[in-house]
Amino acid sequence: MSARKSETPARISRPDYRGDLVYSCIGCDQQYPVDQFHYTCPACGSLLKLVDRSFEKLRRTPGARWREIFDGRRLSNEPSLSGVFLFHELILPLVPPEDVIYLGEGHTPLVRANRDLAGWLGAPFLVKNDGLNPSASFKDRGMASAISYLNHIIRKSDLDEVLGICASTGDTSAAAALYLSYLPKGRVKSVVLLPRGKVTPQQLSQPLGAGATVIEMPGVFDDCMRVVEELAENYDVFLLNSKNPVRINGQKSYSYEVAQQLDWDTRNLVVILPIGNAGNITAVMEGFLDLYRLDVIDTLPTVIGVQSHHADPVYRWKMTGNYKPVSVLPSVAQAAMIGDPVSFPKVRQLVMEHFESRFFMVRVTEQEIMEGMLTANRHGHVVCTQGGESIAGLKAAVEKGLVDPSDTLVVDSTSHQLKFAEFQRMYFEDSFPPEYEVDTKDALRNAPVSIEGGAQAVAEYLGLKRK
Ligand SMILES: *Cc1c(COP(=O)(O)O)cnc(C)c1O
Ligand SMILES: [Zn+2]
Repeated sequence: MSARKSETPARISRPDYRGDLVYSCIGCDQQYPVDQFHYTCPACGSLLKLVDRSFEKLRRTPGARWREIFDGRRLSNEPSLSGVFLFHELILPLVPPEDVIYLGEGHTPLVRANRDLAGWLGAPFLVKNDGLNPSASFKDRGMASAISYLNHIIRKSDLDEVLGICASTGDTSAAAALYLSYLPKGRVKSVVLLPRGKVTPQQLSQPLGAGATVIEMPGVFDDCMRVVEELAENYDVFLLNSKNPVRINGQKSYSYEVAQQLDWDTRNLVVILPIGNAGNITAVMEGFLDLYRLDVIDTLPTVIGVQSHHADPVYRWKMTGNYKPVSVLPSVAQAAMIGDPVSFPKVRQLVMEHFESRFFMVRVTEQEIMEGMLTANRHGHVVCTQGGESIAGLKAAVEKGLVDPSDTLVVDSTSHQLKFAEFQRMYFEDSFPPEYEVDTKDALRNAPVSIEGGAQAVAEYLGLKRK
């Protein structure tokens, strides 16, 4: 018993590296201390990213050793080494293990599409189901890092009161409210701003259940975002939107996990994901870059962003070379229904500097998104509408010849099917308002059957033969 106890921890590398993190402006390269709250550059207004000025030290450890370290930690039951902080050195090394908040996020499964589903799509593929996070979306990855950071700053600086705030298409507020509710009540309050009527009932129930102050506002997400930005600029609040680079850092764990789940073999890897505010695709590209720089992987993947024809500013930029915000139309991929993605400048920079030949955009229709989701879910998956968007995007990419069917194709299902049950219902009942441009196909329809009269009536309905 005691022999076993001492054996396992010895194989697990504890993170004593604290790094030298600073905020660094993507526009003017100014740097700012990481123990202050900054979301945009005080000098020029551009976005900030977190840079580890001692990253070279990490590079002294060979890639093979990093793979061993990360694989070893998967055996650990230590909360501060679980979830996104398994990759502690690359997430937020400044947060010591005792300040890490772990609520069960990360390590989401990579589920192989069965033969029928792969046949329908045109190639074998894998679904990384980020709906299997505590608040049922990938946003928990970024909240785990942001709230661990906040927890650390509160303890270190003796802040007596912090107001955590975000605008949301639904899932950010669910995740923010959940993680903030774990911190001491007297010191931390949580407020979320939502566009009225533009989040699903399930998403609205989440921040309410976590005890957050929920403010509904007219308009769409972009309107709420402007209000929150003004608040963050003029008042003392902690902004939890993906503009805050401490959130992006947690979301990089998606890429680390994909690489680890493929036994670190990223040759011919293609990752397909929906784009809303563009925080996730930023994090995914940055995550693979980290691993590449540390020689943990030897090739960068191809990254394909997917947008609906009802909210397609990044697609248009890729096609024309010009970026212009668009006005959005109603979309079933509601969490990605954003006309002016906040993190777009980061995407542009990452693509130009590192992913030029490895970045594509695909645009899909609302009809294709619904059919992607419903078809996947009829074959053993629990993907949301944004996951359906990824799947529809991959189908289109295969048809266009953008990817080879023999590539390793990973689609990101960003949240859980159940959050978007309303869209499934509207499809099944053929009751989509015309703006969505979704028509019900009978083959994908389903409805409960009401039967009275017990086993015999059920047997008759099913055409069962008596034994
Ligand atoms: C937030 C969100 C997106 C969009 O991600 P961005 O980082 O805003 O591009 C997609 N799907 C779901 C379920 C989300 O919650
Ligand atoms: Zn600047």
